[in-house]
Amino acid sequence: MAWYIDKSILQTSDGNKDWWKKTYSPADEVPVSGIYICTGCKREITSNKGDKFPPQNHHQHPTGNGSIKWKLIVRTNMDGQ
Ligand SMILES: [Zn+2]
Repeated sequence: MAWYIDKSILQTSDGNKDWWKKTYSPADEVPVSGIYICTGCKREITSNKGDKFPPQNHHQHPTGNGSIKWKLIVRTNMDGQ
C-alpha cells in the first residue's frame, strides 16, 4: 500500500495502457516511472523508466508465495505536465 496526504494531486487512470495490466519479472526494463508492488509479498519499489527492475536476489519469498512479479500501482509524472 502506498500512502498520500493530498488526494487533489493524484489522478485516477482508466488503466487501459499495457503498463497497468502487465506484471514484470526481475531485470525486465521498466516501462514507465512509478511505484510497483511485488504481487507475491506486497513489497513496493520505485523505479524509473528505462532502468531495470531489481535482480532476482532483491528479496526472498517464503516457499509457496511464488516468484517476484512487479505490478504498477502508481505512475509518476516525470514531465510535470
Ligand atoms: Zn516479493
